[in-house]
Amino acid sequence: MSAAQLGLSTHVFSPEPSPVAGDVASRTTHADYADSSALLAFADSVDVITYEFENIPSHVLDGLETRCEVLPRRNALSTSQDRLVEKNFVSSLGLETAPYANVETQTDLDAAVDRIGTPSILKTRSFGYDGKGQVRLTQRDEAREAWSSLGSTPCILEGFIDFRCEVSVIAARSRSGDIVCFDPGENLHRDGILHTTTIPAQRVSGSLCEKAKAIAGEIVEALDYVGVMGIEMFVTEQEAILINEIAPRVHNSGHWTQDGCIVDQFEQHIRAIVGYPLGSGTRHSDVVMTNLIGDEISEAPELLGEPDVSLYRYGKADVRPGRKMGHFNRVTAMADPPPLRPGADADR
Ligand code: AMP
Repeated sequence: MSAAQLGLSTHVFSPEPSPVAGDVASRTTHADYADSSALLAFADSVDVITYEFENIPSHVLDGLETRCEVLPRRNALSTSQDRLVEKNFVSSLGLETAPYANVETQTDLDAAVDRIGTPSILKTRSFGYDGKGQVRLTQRDEAREAWSSLGSTPCILEGFIDFRCEVSVIAARSRSGDIVCFDPGENLHRDGILHTTTIPAQRVSGSLCEKAKAIAGEIVEALDYVGVMGIEMFVTEQEAILINEIAPRVHNSGHWTQDGCIVDQFEQHIRAIVGYPLGSGTRHSDVVMTNLIGDEISEAPELLGEPDVSLYRYGKADVRPGRKMGHFNRVTAMADPPPLRPGADADR
C-alpha cells in the first residue's frame, strides 16, 4: 500500500496460495521457492525485489540476484538468519549482547552451561520467532533435556538478562547511505509474543534513547544496509544497552509509526529500496500500539468506535491462537512536539 501511495506497482511472489498482500498488489505469483522458472520470471518482471520475511532459503536469492537487485542485500539475511552469526557480528562492532555460547554437540552444551550458567535460555540458531524455538533453563541439569526438546539442532545458550525494559529502534538506510532512525519504542510481551509498543519509551531517558538510535545507525551502516531494519534491545538497570535481535524488514514494533510520524516505516522502506529520499522520522504524536492476537480481533468493531484509535486488520482468513491478526494504535498529542521541519522554529 505504501508503494501504491508513491505511484509504484507491486508484484507479490508467495509460496502461500492466497497471500494477504495479494489483495492490494498489482500482480501475484503463487509458486514454490523450488520453482526456479517462476522465480526468474518474477525477477524479470520487476525493477527491485524486497522481502518481508527473513527465512528465505539462500538458493532463492542465488537465482533472483542474477536478474534483479534484491534489497536489503543478502548479508543482512545471512546475518539475521543465524543467531550465532548475528551475535558474532554485533560483538565485532564492539556492541553488547547477552553472554552467549555456541551449542552444536553434547560437549559444546556442557561447556556452554559451565560458562554461561543459569538462569539462561537455549535458543535454536535458526527459525525461531515469537518465543518459539527456545527453552529457559533454571538449573544446569535441565540442559540436556532442553536441547533434545529442540531437536538437538544447532543452538546458542544465552545468559538470562534481568533487564529494566525492552526497546526497539526502527532504522532506515537509503541507497545513498543516509540513515534515519525512529524513536525507540518500549515493548511488552505476553506469552513470548509482542503485546504493546509504547512511544515514547517510559523507562528510558532521552539520552539513552539517543544512544539506542546511534547504535541502530552503526548496525545498518556496518551492513551497508538498504531498507528498514528492526533492532531489538534490552536496557538494564545499569543503563547498558544489549542487542537482542536484528530483523532485516519492517517490524511489528514499528507499527506505531503509521500514526506517530508523517512517513511511516513501510513508506520509509519503499523510499529506501527505490532510491528516493528518506522521510524525516520525526514523531508528531505519542502512540501505544497493541497487537490483536487470535480471537482478540473480534474486538475490532468496538475499537473502531474509539476516537483516538487507528485500527489495522491484516485480512487473514483463519483466526488461530497466537496468530497476529491485526493491531491498533492509540494516539495522544505530544506534550512538547518537535518542529516537523528542522530549523522551522528559528525562521519564525
Ligand atoms: P527472541 O526470540 O530472542 O527475541 O526472544 C523472545 C523474548 O524472550 C524477548 O523479547 C525477551 O522478552 C525474552 N528473552 C530473549 N532472550 C533473553 C535473554 N537473554 N534474557 C532475558 N530475556 C530474554
